Amino acid sequence: MNPTLIAPPALVRRAEQHDTKAIQALDSAHYLHPFTSHGDLAGVGARVITRADNIYVWDSEGAKILDAMSGLWCVNAGYGRKELADAAYQQMMTLPFYNSFFNTTNVPAVQLAAKLASLAPVVGGRKFEHVFFSSSGSESNDTNVRMVRRYWDLLGQPQRKVIISRHNAYHGSTMAGASLGGMSGMHAQGDLPIPNITHIEQPHHWDNALPGESHADFGRRAAGWLEEKILEVGPEKVAAFIAEPVQGAGGVIIPPETYWPEIQRIVDQYGILLISDEVICAFGRLGHWFAYQKFGYRPDLITFAKGVTSGYIPLGGVMVGDRVAKVLIEQGGEFNHGYTYSGHPVACAVALANLELMEREDLPGRVKNDIGPYLAERFAELSDHPLVGAAETCGFVAGLVLVKDKGTREMFDPALSVGMICRGHCFRSGLIMRAVGDRMIIAPPLVMTREQIDEMMGLIVKCLDATLDDLRNAGELA
Ligand SMILES: *Cc1c(COP(=O)(O)O)cnc(C)c1O
Repeated sequence: MNPTLIAPPALVRRAEQHDTKAIQALDSAHYLHPFTSHGDLAGVGARVITRADNIYVWDSEGAKILDAMSGLWCVNAGYGRKELADAAYQQMMTLPFYNSFFNTTNVPAVQLAAKLASLAPVVGGRKFEHVFFSSSGSESNDTNVRMVRRYWDLLGQPQRKVIISRHNAYHGSTMAGASLGGMSGMHAQGDLPIPNITHIEQPHHWDNALPGESHADFGRRAAGWLEEKILEVGPEKVAAFIAEPVQGAGGVIIPPETYWPEIQRIVDQYGILLISDEVICAFGRLGHWFAYQKFGYRPDLITFAKGVTSGYIPLGGVMVGDRVAKVLIEQGGEFNHGYTYSGHPVACAVALANLELMEREDLPGRVKNDIGPYLAERFAELSDHPLVGAAETCGFVAGLVLVKDKGTREMFDPALSVGMICRGHCFRSGLIMRAVGDRMIIAPPLVMTREQIDEMMGLIVKCLDATLDDLRNAGELA
């Protein structure tokens, strides 16, 4: 037997004192990480994060790091919130688990479903009175695929199977999630996408606009790609369109204002379902409880996860609008779908505590009226930096593109991995910022103060300057 199973080595000597080398050795011997090249990781050793508070995390060497990514877009309420830990403890002592299969339920799941329904505003007569729970965003999108197909089957249109999504979208990592997503690297592994999922181009002005095309014109044209695809597939075969309000993992791609209204016109015209994947964008991230409020469109299904518990415990789900819920409930009989942990009482109790906290501190309102506009103002200043081609924000997500020539918008040779150079400087300077190609992105906790935004901006400028120096020293820039 592996001796480490009997006696775990002393990885923690005293509080605050970790044996980093030993943890890294065990990590690389046993732990297969998500989205990680293990050959490369073994050489450098993983960074070991040991604790967190407010907007900061600490590693095993004691370094304090400002987490401008909220973990993985999820710690909306910030770290160290005792209310959430208390809610989990209380619920574990009362009822740690019971399932929702076979005509049973539990109180936190009921309360959370009602709470979520009360937070989702009615638009254009569309109401969200029902919730289906899962444990992640990926699972929720699998639920969407099954629910959408079930809906059309029940309506006697079983030929409506095709779901249209977008290139460079992220909808999770299960078979259906990765297929809905538009990441070519993910499709290349494991014969994806699965059948009846097809993609259109993303509304990314920087990459996809014609020379001189305005944002408004581009937004309408990009939405038009949906109509072209519907006509190509055959309108009678299209079940749904799925999209993130603002693409997150794709690099914080903010659509022009003209995009969503035109998408709404098209889905209405062809009667197809609209799925809003708000796993990142809901729960205050864009200054509203749900992101469709910001853009004014009317989804039929909303995917949520991440921020619903501020990442303290896994929970996801689908807000099911009346159009779909009515058919499922009145005509559907049994829906042969669900997860052991659907409506997990501890996860739901933590989500309730999280939503109460967000309500009490009005985190969506802060983003909309206070720290969101302030971040926008400060972030816009980055446009003056010699490396920055465009710097944009939407609520509390932001992205900038690193360019070789601001005038001609010439990009760096991808082989230089300029984004990774910048990210390296961030890590060393005590800032977590993510690189997506040569786009640098952030999604900070919604509890950030203006002073902390200033602190973060100072670090970002420092890292951009260091990247600029590197490129000059390497002769890549004049
Ligand atoms: C993170 C994410 C998912 C997947 O959620 P998991 O909890 O990782 O399965 C799906 N959609 C979007 C928009 C996401 O950002």
